[in-house]
Amino acid sequence: MDIKDFRKNAHNFVDWMADYMENIESYPVKPPTKPGDILAQLPAMAPQTPEQMNDIFKDFQDIIMPGMTHWQHPGFLAYFPANASPPSILAEMLTSTVAAQCMSWQTSPAATELEERVLDWLRHMIGLPDDFHGVIQDTASTAMLSAFLCARERLNDFKTNHSGLNDAGRHCCYASAEVHSSTDKGIRMAGLGSDNLRKIPLDENFSMIPAELDRAIKADIDAGHKPTCVIATLGSTSLSAIDPLQAIGEICRKYNVWLHVDAAWAGSALVLPEFRWMIAGIENADSFVFNPHKWLLTQFDCSAFFVRDKSALIRTFEILPEYLKTREGDQVNNYRDWGPQLGRRFRALKLWFVIRSYGVTGLQDHIRRHIDMTRALAEQVAQEPDFELLAPNPLALFCFRYRPAQVAEGDLDALNERIFEAINDSGEIYLTQTRINGKYAIRLVSGAPLTRQKHLDKAWQIIKNISRSTK
Ligand SMILES: *Cc1c(COP(=O)(O)O)cnc(C)c1O
Repeated sequence: MDIKDFRKNAHNFVDWMADYMENIESYPVKPPTKPGDILAQLPAMAPQTPEQMNDIFKDFQDIIMPGMTHWQHPGFLAYFPANASPPSILAEMLTSTVAAQCMSWQTSPAATELEERVLDWLRHMIGLPDDFHGVIQDTASTAMLSAFLCARERLNDFKTNHSGLNDAGRHCCYASAEVHSSTDKGIRMAGLGSDNLRKIPLDENFSMIPAELDRAIKADIDAGHKPTCVIATLGSTSLSAIDPLQAIGEICRKYNVWLHVDAAWAGSALVLPEFRWMIAGIENADSFVFNPHKWLLTQFDCSAFFVRDKSALIRTFEILPEYLKTREGDQVNNYRDWGPQLGRRFRALKLWFVIRSYGVTGLQDHIRRHIDMTRALAEQVAQEPDFELLAPNPLALFCFRYRPAQVAEGDLDALNERIFEAINDSGEIYLTQTRINGKYAIRLVSGAPLTRQKHLDKAWQIIKNISRSTK
């Protein structure tokens, strides 16, 4: 494709993009696609000869789009939001055009220095202490793995990177029983073994009980094991529980255990000063992660990972073969040494565009709107006699079930599962499910940029209608 054709196509695509954003509500939020539907429309072999962009684009519209889930749809109330926004999309257009590989300072000085600056902005915007250093990772899972590796290396004097774990003893990690699956995965990948992840019991608000954490660490020490890392979760995936950071941090300091704070979704709410109570005690944390790509209008992928001791991070990851040496050395950040990846996308640009185009107050308005709307809806649900909330809802997420008086407790799980499937099959809204104290629960999170009060009003009508008409 020559530049002339590129220009023409790009203009067409931009029109398509704007139309998509304008008309997104005309799509079913979750497509009615069955497994294999799309595959059956795709040729088994790659084309031998060039095809026209018109034909490729037509297939995109006819084959691909009907099988997409629309995460930016205002009725998307499932999983967690994966925000995009016009400034973020514009920045991604520029990023993919310049197409720089930003592994070290020299391979794109502006990308490195912009990343340093916007993460300083972000740290300040969410009220983290000044001695935290930030780096953008692809996901919170990668940040979690990085935290485990740093914790392991710091504990072993940075020797296990070389010697391996054979004689290093049993490394134990601790997290709430509500912890995200990326914790189990990270522990496996770090070689620590998921059998060594202690899931600490929860209080009535589904938050980790500090005394139980203390007891578990002490038991491991007494048994000759090595307490290595504690994960405190702010905003658990299932039901947005918040672990008590202050008390957990004090225990971590007492036993000198690395404390990683996983605020992947809820961290965005820290742009609101009234939610900073969640990070009271943050000065005892060693690392912290949250995903602007969830709820802060910056599209995937953009996970902000902060560490207090950047030398622990760099000593864990730095590898310097001759071909990667550059003369700037220590004067600059080389982000290839701040995580598992060598090659890195230029992800700071979209964050910069987003923060500048919304301003801190614009971002605060976005978060506050979702929290206010969702809490108000949760209140309506709680007041309806045949519905009940199943957990506290401190942020923009709540879990509920339909519980009409005439249905026996033992039949409620199956009934709610049928309701849940019918709601999602409607194509109007999309929810996910969880289990709370063994009970099947329907879970609603609001965070898509286009979701307004009228959409949540409509969602509630749909939920009530489908619940009351499902047998
Ligand atoms: C979403 C989420 C994760 C995983 O995030 P990725 O960026 O997809 O790896 C981890 N922990 C919590 C609490 C989350 O909400």
